[in-house]
Amino acid sequence: MKNQVKVILDYDGTLTREEAMVDDLARLSLDTLSQEILRVPRPQLQEEYRETRRLILSRPHEFGWEVRGLLASYGDEGAFILNTTTLQVMLKMNPLYARRVANYFRDAEYDPVIDCTNYLFHRHTAELKPRFRQGAKEILSGLLRHERFIPLILTNSKGDKVERNLQTLGLKEVEILGDTRQYEMDPSWARHFFHLEQGMTQGLRIDQHHKVDLRRPVYYRALMREAEGAEQIVVVADTLSLPGALPLVMGMRFYLLKTSYTPFWCEEFVKKHERGEVLESLYSLRERVETLI
Ligand SMILES: [Mg+2]
Repeated sequence: MKNQVKVILDYDGTLTREEAMVDDLARLSLDTLSQEILRVPRPQLQEEYRETRRLILSRPHEFGWEVRGLLASYGDEGAFILNTTTLQVMLKMNPLYARRVANYFRDAEYDPVIDCTNYLFHRHTAELKPRFRQGAKEILSGLLRHERFIPLILTNSKGDKVERNLQTLGLKEVEILGDTRQYEMDPSWARHFFHLEQGMTQGLRIDQHHKVDLRRPVYYRALMREAEGAEQIVVVADTLSLPGALPLVMGMRFYLLKTSYTPFWCEEFVKKHERGEVLESLYSLRERVETLI
């Protein structure tokens, strides 16, 4: 089939109403921290969580999700990302917490704090009842029926959770690329990307306060694999740094779904980019992708 367009859809926050699920995710995460990992009183953690979150939101460009010393995402880009960043900052700033986390995650894959927040995220999002955005089912089934589109779900979450949740929508045949690790940063990765104004670079400059690090080899390879055999690639997501910056520098399209938590700086950047679009709702995705065929 000629000119097929692969539409790669992010799961959390794009197909789901992350903003309506994040309080439950935080509550369950603090329960586990209090009872199993840190063993400190729950009310104390609750208060520290609130304080840390307030601190991050007062200077959001100074905080984010750090992996191997590189910034994977700014803290204010998404509701789940803000939760993850809050937990990470909270655990790192308190020496007692840092010690207890290090003790609990002895064989850490990244570092104990990152492993801890990954663990809390995967464990507790799997327990939450999915809340899909309006239009999620219609958009996905419409793309599946159309012979020129290949929808694909790209997610940092585990594929089995996403598959189970999509089944509740009656969608079984959609392909899922789970655990793609857009946050897997590698300071030793040598690849540079060409940018018309910025030259050869490993960081996409957004504005005075924001620069997105492109050193994400695992996600890069996943995108390269998907690019084979597809005429065009569109990535659709609710945040910029994790899923969006790399496709843009690789010459692919990126559509940012605007949500209640989308920061102005992300929206502005994508809106101005020649291969970027800002979607006001999921429903508008259909007409945007139809212009591509
Ligand atoms: Mg997302």
